Amino acid sequence: MNGAELRHYGLWIGGYEVPSEGDSRIPVIDPSTGEPWSSIADATDADVAKAVASALATGESGWRTSAALRSKSLFRLAELIEEHADELAACDVRDNGKILRETANQIRGVPRWYRYFAGLADKVQGYTVPSDRPSAVNFTVREPLGVIACITAWNSPLLLVAVKLAPALAAGNAAVLKPSEFASSSTLEFARLCIEAGMPQGVVNVVTGGPVAGEALIRHPGIAHVNFTGSPRVGAIVAAAAGSALKGVTLELGGKSPNIIFEDAPMDAAIAGVLGGMFAAAGQSCVAGSRVLVQRSVYEEVVTRLRARADAILLGDPRNAQTEMGPIANRPQLEKIEYYVGAALEDGAKLVTGGAKPQDPALASGLYYLPTIFADVPAECRLAREEVFGPVMAIIPFTDEDEALKIANSTDYGLASGVWTSDLSRAHRMAQKLQSGSVFINTYRAMEPGMPVSGFKQSGIGHENGMDAVLEFTQTKAIWVETEPAAADPFKMRI
Ligand code: NAD
Repeated sequence: MNGAELRHYGLWIGGYEVPSEGDSRIPVIDPSTGEPWSSIADATDADVAKAVASALATGESGWRTSAALRSKSLFRLAELIEEHADELAACDVRDNGKILRETANQIRGVPRWYRYFAGLADKVQGYTVPSDRPSAVNFTVREPLGVIACITAWNSPLLLVAVKLAPALAAGNAAVLKPSEFASSSTLEFARLCIEAGMPQGVVNVVTGGPVAGEALIRHPGIAHVNFTGSPRVGAIVAAAAGSALKGVTLELGGKSPNIIFEDAPMDAAIAGVLGGMFAAAGQSCVAGSRVLVQRSVYEEVVTRLRARADAILLGDPRNAQTEMGPIANRPQLEKIEYYVGAALEDGAKLVTGGAKPQDPALASGLYYLPTIFADVPAECRLAREEVFGPVMAIIPFTDEDEALKIANSTDYGLASGVWTSDLSRAHRMAQKLQSGSVFINTYRAMEPGMPVSGFKQSGIGHENGMDAVLEFTQTKAIWVETEPAAADPFKMRI
């Protein structure tokens, strides 16, 4: 594709696609071909200021006060996403190379979030508080925070936007979205639909770019709260920047999630679940079950079966309906995978399969990497402790429940855990003792708008989904009314 054919995206501010005030642009590479297919603007401080001003201006539009308007437009938005699902999915596939059948499936799931939170928009309520003074009427109201900055990663662009934006809008806030510089196009196309859905101009704005745009957004005094999904390294920078400006922050970060197979597991389901938990989306999933803990009595059998299934994974063009694993999303991510494969070999893990780029010449220009399995991975190995965010599985043996728990809980992360067993009591014991925000029993990598998502330990701060997510985007105001005002001692507190 030559330069003239590239799609050059602008920013989305106040209900229009507008050019950046600056002239710096970022080329966007299709990872399945290695060729650029579009470019995005590297937004400047002035662009960010315009986007925040446009969001602040919606305070007069009735958006803040009319739950009926919010609910109606969120329901309509859900329909519009369904109508445009194919175009939106095509954008993501070009940006991040995730296979079309997974991307399309995810985007068809996204409207559930807008419908769920549309239904909650008129249920954001305060309460009355009984007082000792009969003449007092004390009550609370929940008010929106104002303008929310939503900064997102590249792996599931519109799902990550939905879990932030749907509750934020339901609560009456406006938003400025800052998608990843590797995958912005679907978020820009999506923002158009918000206008079509009847939202006032400026309720949803999109600025594009990398760290410079992200930092400008967090710093801007008009931003009330920062909701971030990304790596722990950047999460710490975001939290520090938000904290120094005394802004609230929600962080959804990385993981090194254990997927634990006991000898009494429903074995076919466990193999399929563990395989999908690792190699779906080429391992570029925050909840990827990248540590597979296997009871010793079934260890050899499980390693053999996982290897056979991994070797049969069809690697290829993400648009092909048969493909099971597409390319890695971008070059820095591919380099990270290569680093961790090297580290695992140095640290004494046993390479079972993969560990290289595929030989197939048809895949040579794309960023492909083979499904990779290491077995007998020592607990202190970097591969056992640090997030790769790629198709590299670490299999670790254990003897009994206590040892499984000890290994499972031994990293700094706590995003998700999986347990495969037919013993109900064991399943519940494990669920109580695993240190992670989600525990999947005999299933894995499931998501629904009503089920909370949160990271324990260094996997995050705050939570998403459910009514709690709406409340996280509000602040409580306590209102005191005295129905029989009387002069009182001005030097004594009314307590
Ligand atoms: P990243 O941290 O590199 O980038 C995330 C976002 O932050 C991008 O939009 C990026 O432009 C922006 N950014 C980068 N530097 C910034 C700065 N200094 N200030 C403000 N913004 C900045 O992460 P990534 O590589 O895009 O995504 C992969 C990571 O995301 C993995 O660690 C993965 O586990 C995590 N993730 C977590 C969840 C979850 O729900 N917990 C979901 C998806 C991805």
